[in-house]
Amino acid sequence: MRRKLIYVFYLLLSLTMAGCNSDSGEEVISKDPEYPEEPGGTTGDRTVWSFDVKIMLDEMTFKSYNSSVEDINAKLKQRFKEVRELYHGKKEIYFEADIEFVPFFDETCVYNCSSQDILNNAIAYRGKYPYLIVFDGTVGDFTNEWIHADWTGWGREVVCISENNIGKPDANVTYKILSHYKTSRTLAHELGHARGVPDIYAMEIKQNQVNGQFFTPVTCMMNNCWEGDTWSEYSQLLINHNKNLIAGEKGFQPLEKPLYPNSLLLKVVRGGKPLEGAEVKIYREKMYENVVDPIPNRQKTLGAKGEWELSPVTLFNGPNADIAYGVLLVEVTKGDRTEYRFIPVYELQLAYMKGETENYIIEMELKP
Ligand SMILES: [Zn+2]
Repeated sequence: MRRKLIYVFYLLLSLTMAGCNSDSGEEVISKDPEYPEEPGGTTGDRTVWSFDVKIMLDEMTFKSYNSSVEDINAKLKQRFKEVRELYHGKKEIYFEADIEFVPFFDETCVYNCSSQDILNNAIAYRGKYPYLIVFDGTVGDFTNEWIHADWTGWGREVVCISENNIGKPDANVTYKILSHYKTSRTLAHELGHARGVPDIYAMEIKQNQVNGQFFTPVTCMMNNCWEGDTWSEYSQLLINHNKNLIAGEKGFQPLEKPLYPNSLLLKVVRGGKPLEGAEVKIYREKMYENVVDPIPNRQKTLGAKGEWELSPVTLFNGPNADIAYGVLLVEVTKGDRTEYRFIPVYELQLAYMKGETENYIIEMELKP
């Protein structure tokens, strides 16, 4: 059986966030002429990539909104408008088109079971929609319920967003599942997985016995989405690559099938010349573990060319051919000199998307 892969988005991270975006008071839908009421089509000269999303909502939460389909749809409209604004981008990172997700919800979308049961039958519940989003506002009323926001790909294409902390205040705010607080950013992040981007926070190094250095990956909605609402060039290029395609369509690249240059060529030089006899060790960080494994994955004494040709697939992928290792730490030693360099998986994927599909070269200079 194919291993179930769930991209866990640690909502616990958000516990460190100062209280913000309180849901107290009325939510106002501002009239913004930049965004049309109708989905799809174009905004001025901007194309819109529009994706339909089926919503499932637990019965307890539905009742808390007076069992009103209209009220729920009003909330959803606000949240998905915010998601669209987040996908508008900023700081020179814009997508090739405006991106929106259009929710569908009616009384047939209310469920009265564990969110895990919905996940297990996600393909059936999703039906003709490319994506299913399960909102569970009352975690704990059934066994085995999800307590995080997660994305599950592999053809299921489902996001589950659960009430965090079982109704207890989180950063002084009690989280209500369809409220502004957290929901739109969480949706934008999880739907970023749907568009092909892995968890960038899984590529952080917080522990390193090899040389003590930490590695902080690029800021992005797909890193910690509470620390800013910007996107990285990595997400930009992956999301642009997938355009308005969905899983299963020709040309769509899900995050389960990462693209890399064919080879990674490591060149070690001294004074601009190949360094023969350098000892190279490659250590790896397993995605989500945030620790450099102190046992090298491989090592080699370089020959006269001072080169080592490596396979990115072998270095980064796991048995399911998805990204299993987020960061490499390369150690180069000759005599009493040692140099280190981190290589995050996104560096190679970025190179691929910018056209370096064959050979990606990394040169390391060792001082005399
Ligand atoms: Zn995630």
